[in-house]
Amino acid sequence: MSTDTHAPFDKKPESPRSTGELIRLEQVTKRFGNHTVLDHLDFSVDAGKHVTLIGPSGSGKTTILRLLMTLLKPDEGTITVDGERLFPAPEKQVREVRKKIGMVFQQFNLFPNMTVLRNITEAPVTVLGLSKDAAEERARELLEMVGLTDHVDKHPAQLSGGQQQRVAIARALAMRPQVLLLDEVTSALDPELVAGVLDVLRDIARSTDITMLCVTHEMNFARDISDQVLMFDSGRVIEAGPPEKIFSEPEHDRTREFLSAVL
Ligand code: ADP
Repeated sequence: MSTDTHAPFDKKPESPRSTGELIRLEQVTKRFGNHTVLDHLDFSVDAGKHVTLIGPSGSGKTTILRLLMTLLKPDEGTITVDGERLFPAPEKQVREVRKKIGMVFQQFNLFPNMTVLRNITEAPVTVLGLSKDAAEERARELLEMVGLTDHVDKHPAQLSGGQQQRVAIARALAMRPQVLLLDEVTSALDPELVAGVLDVLRDIARSTDITMLCVTHEMNFARDISDQVLMFDSGRVIEAGPPEKIFSEPEHDRTREFLSAVL
């Protein structure tokens, strides 16, 4: 895929992009009943970096993305995004800080009754207050970026899973988030559709300044795009480092066991 279609996205941000630390979780604890899923977790992500969370199923990775998306609330601790508190914070502030974050889910979650174009323009018009024309112009640029210009007027059910997921990526980017959260975005796809979606994400990682926080089981993808890989086990980061270190010279037995099971 060509990368020369990105200029409108990465060269004309409407607000200046931050540098330095963009996301900080401090002493975050999340329990479901008496099951402690995250136990006083600390970690931070710098602006523009691509961080991948790996680890066994149930280790708390998705819970972190859902906390950042404010779909869940921590029981303890603080979450800060771009220097502003996301938790604990008053509702109005939460709504503002939340605009800095976009998420793509495993199950696409497109609006089934809207066209592809409308799926992408809906939130920029209703939440950001963009004019319909401006939102459509941006949507068309993004659809070009994800390789779907021919599908603008279709409905989600007329698209393959891979195409739907690429619409979901364009929809998240249409809000110009500073952070893109990716939650196992290829797990629900037929195997032959996975590569197309990962190629689009590789392209976005390479050609834009967006910060990415990914949960994935696609280790080659993680190796390609990550600045840092965090290995989770039972709600804790047991090992962190650049991909070449984590994948080639893991220090922790649990990391070695996990990688030998998935690679
Ligand atoms: P991962 O993404 O690493 O597979 P999750 O963050 O999805 O792990 O889940 C961590 C643990 O929290 C799992 O044991 C899961 O069953 C539990 N869990 C997640 N969401 C809920 C929920 N809404 N209610 C109860 N338990 C949950």
